[in-house]
Amino acid sequence: MAFHWLESDTVIADGVPSELTEPLDPHRLCMRGTYSAPVRCVALDARIGEYSRCTIHSRRPSVCREVEASWEFGRASPQCDRSRIAHGLPVLTAADWHWRDAPANDDEQPDDTPSNPDRPTRPPLVA
Ligand code: SF4
Repeated sequence: MAFHWLESDTVIADGVPSELTEPLDPHRLCMRGTYSAPVRCVALDARIGEYSRCTIHSRRPSVCREVEASWEFGRASPQCDRSRIAHGLPVLTAADWHWRDAPANDDEQPDDTPSNPDRPTRPPLVA
């Protein structure tokens, strides 16, 4: 989870919250918890296999933005699939995102604002 220090909120408004980072080298920061065992980012709110969310989603570093959840945007994500398999979870399918189609969800602002859609009430479907 290394990224350039210019992404920090000490440099840009709404950057990565600096209190959740630590220096990695003279040019890079990392999210606290990602460079020590057991690896768990301090910004992660999750019970693996039940739910997970990034508590700084709209301010997460670029390295996190580059990894899509499989089928969230209509395509598979090999990195997402590998991570889920490593944790004993089934890979996501397009069907896992149908909950967003419910009229009560705010599809215009699905992730990056306080008006997030409701968390799914059922576990992800098995492929
Ligand atoms: S997406 Fe959020 S919770 Fe996950 S590693 Fe990045 S900052 Fe941490």
